[in-house]
Amino acid sequence: MKLILLGAPGAGKGTQAEIICEKLNIPTISTGAILRQAMKDGTEMGLKAKAFIEAGDLVPDEVIIGIVNERLAADDCKNGFILDGVPRTIAQAEAIDAMGIKIDMALNIVVKDETIIERVSGRRVCSCGASYHIKYKPSEVEGVCDKCGQPLTIRKDDEPQTVLDRLTTYHKLTQPLEDYYRAKGLLVEIDGEQSVEKTTELVLKALGV
Ligand code: AMP
Repeated sequence: MKLILLGAPGAGKGTQAEIICEKLNIPTISTGAILRQAMKDGTEMGLKAKAFIEAGDLVPDEVIIGIVNERLAADDCKNGFILDGVPRTIAQAEAIDAMGIKIDMALNIVVKDETIIERVSGRRVCSCGASYHIKYKPSEVEGVCDKCGQPLTIRKDDEPQTVLDRLTTYHKLTQPLEDYYRAKGLLVEIDGEQSVEKTTELVLKALGV
């Protein structure tokens, strides 16, 4: 299964990816997570990406295409993968096609902007990649990751003004991907307004698992 998860920032792509990747035993490739790790490690790529990310802008296509190209060549991607947060532009989608990768499905998790703003303001993350929400998906111990015990933090780009900027960018540059994958007969829309569990149910049904 070669799956793309589409949807606005905060739509629930990462949360659903965590569930699907366990169920299907395929890796999730999150360019956002790769970039955050690179920033933490202080690599050249991380330093280059930092200003874009913190301003709520997209990182240049060539950086993203380089990451995807390298990551998808790894052994663990042989039986399939979930792309979370990539592609985010038509140029990235075209580059993935040009790599000869045949995508099976593009799942679009549809959530209204008002819901996104509420969700993102309650999001808490761990450096291990796990993601929580203070109201909808709380950790067992407040402020501590269930998976690895590290302290949870608020992403810098989840601050209110940055979220509005990210939504504007999403509508302008990423939403056109809906038509791109619809034209290929690959787009499946999922109502992401409901609970995590209900959304998972719809996602698994769409995947036939
Ligand atoms: P995410 O965790 O997917 O919300 O990504 C966090 C930030 O990383 C985004 O707001 C962008 O600045 C950057 N980013 C992640 N993936 C991409 C991508 N495919 N194209 C461009 N920028 C990206």
